[in-house]
Amino acid sequence: MTLSTVRRYQSGRVQQVGEHAAVIGGSLAGLCAARVLADGYDTVTIIEKDSLSDDSSFRRGVPQGPQIHALQEAGRATLEDLFPGFGEDIISAGGLLIDGASDFKFYDEGGFLADGTKRFPMYFATRPLFEHVIRRRVTSFENIELRTGCQFRDYLFDSETMTIEGIAVREGSDQKHIAADLVVDATGRTSRTPTWLDDHGFDAPDIDEVQIDLGYCTTAIRRPPDDRRTFFAAASPPRTRGGAVFPVEDNRWLVNLHGMNGDHPPTDPEGFTDFAASLPIPQIHRLVETYPQVWQDIESYPFPSNRRVHYENLDRFPDGLIVLGDALASFNPIYGQGMSVAALEALVLHHVLASVRGPNLALAFFDRVQTIIDTAWTMAIGADVQFSETTGPTPPGTGMFAWYLSRLTRKAHSDGELRDALARVASMEHPPTRLLRPSVAWRVLKPEILRGEHTSHVSSKAESRKTS
Ligand SMILES: Cc1cc2nc3c(=O)[nH]c(=O)nc-3n(C[C@H](O)[C@H](O)[C@H](O)COP(=O)(O)OP(=O)(O)OC[C@H]3O[C@@H](n4cnc5c(N)ncnc54)[C@H](O)[C@@H]3O)c2cc1C
Repeated sequence: MTLSTVRRYQSGRVQQVGEHAAVIGGSLAGLCAARVLADGYDTVTIIEKDSLSDDSSFRRGVPQGPQIHALQEAGRATLEDLFPGFGEDIISAGGLLIDGASDFKFYDEGGFLADGTKRFPMYFATRPLFEHVIRRRVTSFENIELRTGCQFRDYLFDSETMTIEGIAVREGSDQKHIAADLVVDATGRTSRTPTWLDDHGFDAPDIDEVQIDLGYCTTAIRRPPDDRRTFFAAASPPRTRGGAVFPVEDNRWLVNLHGMNGDHPPTDPEGFTDFAASLPIPQIHRLVETYPQVWQDIESYPFPSNRRVHYENLDRFPDGLIVLGDALASFNPIYGQGMSVAALEALVLHHVLASVRGPNLALAFFDRVQTIIDTAWTMAIGADVQFSETTGPTPPGTGMFAWYLSRLTRKAHSDGELRDALARVASMEHPPTRLLRPSVAWRVLKPEILRGEHTSHVSSKAESRKTS
């Protein structure tokens, strides 16, 4: 399920479901969930362990905050539906809008992709700014309360009815109970729900982990106000290294370097610059050498594995509990999917609230959300398994899909329509199966001689030298 196949948000569709819902975690997934719950519950309480300031600064509870974040089209469009005017809010808070088809210079499989033929908007900002804008919109709802400095301790569980009836929290030095008809776990990748289930007589869910041992490093450099150059060079085998430069607020570029399978970029300025010089495109290194670093540090984030928790396969699951966002699945960040998956999951929750009542709510949610996770998982794992060091369970057909994707990407060096098709799948607008449609497959598989491949390959190489 992707943006094109999930029904859009429909105001007024959800009638009263219950009195009170509690969301644990006030990050992207928790905020989006609270937004849709506010339609069906009299009040919604978000609890967040961090003390939040009224700005877009980094915070401890979201350690990936300083890392470069791309917002894909599925996320942008869904956030725009949930919070009309979201894009304008990003711009007025200092974010930038570029054309994803032509301004985003994307290098993969040995060349820059041709410009796409259809324009689409891409917003660029730091992750804290995205979150800040959404948080401001969520807290403007009269029936949503955000309690910061409030730490989740435990679920309140009735073992006779097998129902979660609320949460126990620590707020300052006080221990409190918050009763709720529905509890949403949006605590991110370190969610304790699997262990809690195991400790309370339920089966622990199966967890798929695909190990990639990725090192991620980001810093900010000064950017001339009118310069919006945007580059992304993907790691592709046998080259484990990649990098990106995204324009963000306050006249900065975020510069990211990453390496798969233990080839982690260094965090000292000299080592960082040398790593940038080793990328297959010179543009990122040139910008790092030309413009001064504005953050004191180079922030690193080790990311060991793609991770997916299979609650949908459990025979028994407590009523009154839902898990979403990174707590449900988290993906290799190179592909920029997490925020969009979180927004789409909130959209699924919206439709589930409109159509399902009582104990089946969680099961219906976990079932319906699988197709969204499948899409993101297929794309992430499909690319990651191209590295022979990647280990872990891979869905059937992944190897063949990876081969096809690699060929498609190479063809997209000189074919704008293939770039369109690829971009729409990578941005979770269309499902990966769209890439197998005859109109696309023909362009990918037809013999090179028939399409003047030799000449376009040469001109694509010339083009990549021109892109500066
Ligand atoms: C290095 C990196 C780069 C990424 N790049 C991208 C990208 O380019 N594009 C993209 O779309 N996504 C990206 N992501 C993913 C994205 O950051 C997440 O998918 C997104 O933030 C949604 O996460 P979440 O809200 O589920 O969890 P998180 O953002 O992890 O938030 C969890 C929240 O729960 C709170 N919390 C945790 N425990 C408790 C507790 N006990 N009590 C109360 N509160 C608690 C935390 O303080 C935090 O606010 C990246 C991730 C990483 C790691």
